[in-house]
Amino acid sequence: MMPGYDSVVIGGGIGGLAAAYTLHKRGYRVLVIEAANRVGGVIHSIKTQDGFTLDCGPNTLGTKDTRLWNELIDLGLRERITPAARCGKRRFILINGQPIEIPTSPIGLVTTRLLSWRGKLRALAEPVAPHAATGTEESVAAFFSRRIGPEATARLLDPFVAGVYAGDPNQLSVAAVFPSLWEAAQRSGSIARGMLSAPRPKPAVSEPKMRSRTFSFRDGLAEWPRALARALGANNVWTGRRAVGLRYRNNSWEVTIDGTGELETVTARSVIIATPAYAAADLIETLDATAAGALRAIPYAPVAVVHLGFRRDQLSRELNGFGVLAPSSERRHFLGILWASSLFPHVAPTDRALTITLVGGAIRPELAEQSEEALIEAAIRDNQQVLGISGQPLLTHVTRWRYAIPQYTFGHRERIAALERLEQRWPTLQLTGSYRGGVGVPKTWASGAQAGERIAAALDAQGTTTGTLEQALG
Ligand SMILES: Cc1cc2nc3c(=O)[nH]c(=O)nc-3n(C[C@H](O)[C@H](O)[C@H](O)COP(=O)(O)OP(=O)(O)OC[C@H]3O[C@@H](n4cnc5c(N)ncnc54)[C@H](O)[C@@H]3O)c2cc1C
Repeated sequence: MMPGYDSVVIGGGIGGLAAAYTLHKRGYRVLVIEAANRVGGVIHSIKTQDGFTLDCGPNTLGTKDTRLWNELIDLGLRERITPAARCGKRRFILINGQPIEIPTSPIGLVTTRLLSWRGKLRALAEPVAPHAATGTEESVAAFFSRRIGPEATARLLDPFVAGVYAGDPNQLSVAAVFPSLWEAAQRSGSIARGMLSAPRPKPAVSEPKMRSRTFSFRDGLAEWPRALARALGANNVWTGRRAVGLRYRNNSWEVTIDGTGELETVTARSVIIATPAYAAADLIETLDATAAGALRAIPYAPVAVVHLGFRRDQLSRELNGFGVLAPSSERRHFLGILWASSLFPHVAPTDRALTITLVGGAIRPELAEQSEEALIEAAIRDNQQVLGISGQPLLTHVTRWRYAIPQYTFGHRERIAALERLEQRWPTLQLTGSYRGGVGVPKTWASGAQAGERIAAALDAQGTTTGTLEQALG
């Protein structure tokens, strides 16, 4: 029997949709199976009746990937893109309870109050800092403490790791989280020397040089996954259906699906698993228990996202920047507070302001699991203390992500190597997601598109698509 699809993509987050669209553009017949009742995964945007736009997961995209821009234009999203306000370049770190701006100019680096003179001199001594003992996997905290000193690590690196990875710098593997910085230091004995001497790949002549841009969409980030699902076609994206089994039989993949009351099976020439790692583990258990074990070993940090909306006259000063991150040494209740309506004015009515308080992460996961009331109460207190906002908010909204961000901890690279061995054994099976190649949306998109390219290559090598074979058979 001919397989029903060229490819079944399990998981309709940005990784899965990117993979599916890559195959769809090449004329392959693709089916996306998504367990939730909407596509997008952790990308989830809500419009409230009183005119706020709430991004409940990621809220900002930053990329200079030309392929990604071309895809957005291809999807008809050019007019929907909203660039971040210029003030978004201003980012702050909380030091002794005060938001201090991160310097972006050489003079600012010299005069900043973020680091003491001793801390600045130690950071500048990076090129002559000691080498690591070879053979041991180093944590992000140990690597940067050795290279730029403990103060710069605690005040700059720690809040950055909290803001992007919701992670614990003592648990994350530097080789997995910052591969290019780690490789530069391995190559040249110094990050600075290694980066300066790195060979730069020549861009293709046709590719315009892109600067990194920060942006969202008029109705929030979920516009993008929705546009991808539309482009794939409603019949080819099944929401509210969970893949519960996967096996290879009679030269084709069989995916068992739950969701309509009784189990159903679809067949395909290839499969892309684009679920979070723990869900992917269940699906490949019978194919490769070692790879399944590697996926299960990838921990996830929980994050609670608290939106607060205020009247502008409740602000004692203008929120003028991206937001503020809290180093763990500040012992705050939050990882960061983003000034959403300062970065993207369209997310709040003109006489209102919107902030996003991020709570939890790998260091204090229990904070993300508090009751909604406790989360809101603490976020209001933090907004009042740190940002000088007075009074109660007009809008409160809590989103809890139990498994928010995968943690690239010690052993992560070996885990990914186990997945690569699985894919070598089964060229028509690919795994993609934010546990691979970077946790941000653009990197997850790129990982999904690459999985799509690899499957296209495997299918091309096999020959005809199901469509053409079915036509040939009449
Ligand atoms: C709170 C938060 C804030 C963030 N902020 C940013 C930011 O500002 N900028 C940025 O670039 N990145 C940010 N990120 C990271 C980024 O959002 C994610 O890394 C990325 O969106 C993950 O995409 P994904 O496709 O790998 O996974 P997901 O979005 O988790 O999608 C996986 C999908 O698989 C589905 N699924 C699971 N099991 C099954 C099954 N058995 N069958 C069918 N479907 C299944 C799930 O329902 C889900 O829809 C943030 C993440 C979080 C949680």
